[in-house]
Amino acid sequence: MKIRENIIIRGIVQGVGFRPFIHKLVRHYNLSGWIINSNQGVEIEVEGEEEEIKDFLKDIKIKLPPLARIEEIEVKLLPLIGYQDFLIKKSEIRKSNGLVLVSPDICICKDCLEELFNPQDRRFRYPFINCTNCGPRFTIIQDIPYDREKTTMQKFRMCTSCKSEYETIDNRRYHAQPNACNLCGPQVSLYNRKGRKIEGTEPIEEAKKYLKEGKIGAIKGLGGFHLACDATNNQAVLRLRDFKKREDKPFALMSFNLEQIRQYCLIEEAEIALLESRARPIVLLKKKENSRISPLVAPRNQCLGVMLPYTPLHYLLLQGDFLALVMTSGNFGDEPILFDNQEVVEKLEGVADFFLLYNREIFNRCDDSVVKIINQEMVFFRRSRGYVPEPIVLDKEIKEVLAVGGELKNTIALSQGRYVFPSQYLGNLQSADTYEFFKESIQKLKRILKINPRIVACDLHPDYLSTKYAEEIGKQKGLEIVKIQHHYAHIVSCMAENRVKGRVIGVAYDGAGWGEDNYIWGGEFLLADFQGYSRIGHLKYFPLPGGEKAIKEPWRMAYSYLYSIYGSSIHQLSLDFIQRNNSSLYHLLEKMIDQQINSPLTSSCGRLFDAVASLIGIRDKISYEGQAVIEMEALCQEGIKEGYSYLWERVGNLFLISPEDIFREIVTDLKQGVNQAILATKFHNTVANFTVSLCVKIREETQLNQVALSGGVFQNRYLSERIINQLKEKGFQVYFQRKVPPNDGGISLGQAVIAGSK
Ligand SMILES: [Zn+2]
Ligand SMILES: [Zn+2]
Ligand SMILES: [Zn+2]
Repeated sequence: MKIRENIIIRGIVQGVGFRPFIHKLVRHYNLSGWIINSNQGVEIEVEGEEEEIKDFLKDIKIKLPPLARIEEIEVKLLPLIGYQDFLIKKSEIRKSNGLVLVSPDICICKDCLEELFNPQDRRFRYPFINCTNCGPRFTIIQDIPYDREKTTMQKFRMCTSCKSEYETIDNRRYHAQPNACNLCGPQVSLYNRKGRKIEGTEPIEEAKKYLKEGKIGAIKGLGGFHLACDATNNQAVLRLRDFKKREDKPFALMSFNLEQIRQYCLIEEAEIALLESRARPIVLLKKKENSRISPLVAPRNQCLGVMLPYTPLHYLLLQGDFLALVMTSGNFGDEPILFDNQEVVEKLEGVADFFLLYNREIFNRCDDSVVKIINQEMVFFRRSRGYVPEPIVLDKEIKEVLAVGGELKNTIALSQGRYVFPSQYLGNLQSADTYEFFKESIQKLKRILKINPRIVACDLHPDYLSTKYAEEIGKQKGLEIVKIQHHYAHIVSCMAENRVKGRVIGVAYDGAGWGEDNYIWGGEFLLADFQGYSRIGHLKYFPLPGGEKAIKEPWRMAYSYLYSIYGSSIHQLSLDFIQRNNSSLYHLLEKMIDQQINSPLTSSCGRLFDAVASLIGIRDKISYEGQAVIEMEALCQEGIKEGYSYLWERVGNLFLISPEDIFREIVTDLKQGVNQAILATKFHNTVANFTVSLCVKIREETQLNQVALSGGVFQNRYLSERIINQLKEKGFQVYFQRKVPPNDGGISLGQAVIAGSK
């Protein structure tokens, strides 16, 4: 019997070869009707034999194109119309509350790569080769539905050959929106340091020559600019450091293939899969000693951030000549990554020796993602290109919310139904340009996702610019404002991505977050579910002398602990630490602490790590966030099992963890000349020990057996692996963040879920 069905498919179904895929299936089953990209996803109508349509629906789910992802299929039976053929209709926007998922940018596929290096192919060495299975997506999309006119490819008119591929159903480029070739598509050009075009040369080959000579280039990538130089050239790397005013912060590297990366890094199996994954993130790998890579790429760091090429342009650039190129974001300090040709020339004049540009615009800028393997699984340090705008899928629907995130490593998020869409990495909002980027990204994401929430969620911190923004637009547009405690957002972020049911013991270890008592929290034990939380324990409060300044100068926190423990007899401790600075500085600090001048109380776990790192002589001042802690972690050794004594005690309703004994025993060790590696490892072991033992105590009282871990401190691999495994040994169900970062980049997800569940 003949029937007619209307089918709506939601998920990542636009720009991934879905319509051609359906067209082929329709031919196979001899169905008639039409298909259209709509703001619901894809809408199909088919007429044909009932059995055939049944099989057709089955095949859709099984034979899906590689980049497509189906979230939902809705089928309606309708009266017959008598369609004669099957049409691919022009996309239209219709008013309805649907949701189209946009694909992230995908690295060049195998087929395109083969064509790129095949002299017989008409796209031989064309730097913008792409097809339905690969290429730019999120970074070029201006609106939905995903059609060429709504991307930054609109200004390029396809030549006859490209057009015929685009229209031929069996072609790999059938309806591939960024389809292009040397005749009709984007072009690369080379500019000198003054921004003047260099004519008469092959731009990429010429750029390679410059790089070999030790020059620094600004190179346009997929989501923004990179500053590039030869990673084996000390002189060039040093110059780049000077320009970027980065003393020690590691630079990311790009190599042509795995064999090259193996020359300077150790790679585990799980890391290979990540390096080769189609998102092509920067993977933090253990560096080999004495490789050809300049030691200035990542001084005093045991890791290197490495990625494989992800665009055809990268492949052409890396081919043959370099062991690795430094490919660091083209920006300064906390400013967002540069993405506009004109702006980059203005801002980087005097920094870059040349500019390798192309004339396709980047619409949504997007930094490289950064990941690391911890406990055999991927952990995000930064979730951006290659992953955004994929949603986190919850197990139940929540209300529509705009969550504006924290202050540092900011991301925003939008929610609808079971989906939460965290934005790309936006950065530190204290920079004026980043704040603009933040506001612009909210508008762009709202437009692409067609979500316009009536609820805005923000942090409890009164001074965060994101909080102020939420208050402002809340008032302006009459939105409901929901303020959420920082560490509660961390824990719910972890619960949401893991689809945890019920309550958990939440352990949030990070740098700083505003507490309900107006102190600075950061070493917190919470009992939490999606409806609310209570604080059950924390690291004991100590003064943070100098406030913000103490974050950049870990010695201040070390002194604060020692002074609180030893009082004025601190000066009798014959420690290197005490001798390193002049005593007038210490007296000033004592005065600040005694008189409570700019010395807010904090329970921050990050500051505890800072203090120990300074005390044992790793670093008194830092030049990038977390530096002292990263360098201390690098010293930890697997074989050392000892730890220090610790104490937690019940005070009222709270468990307080007292680190006094830890400091006393470290001081004793220091006096006995125990080496740094042993000190560092014993300290890490101790933090794992008190964390696990307090969780056991809380379980006894609450019967809760689930633990959710979050906060920036969990980027520490040595510590995280110990805590996770020891908790598991004690029989806990342990949840860890793998879909959004455990750092403040994951806050917006937690905020959205809390506000949307109310
Ligand atoms: Zn391809
Ligand atoms: Zn063409
Ligand atoms: Zn945080």
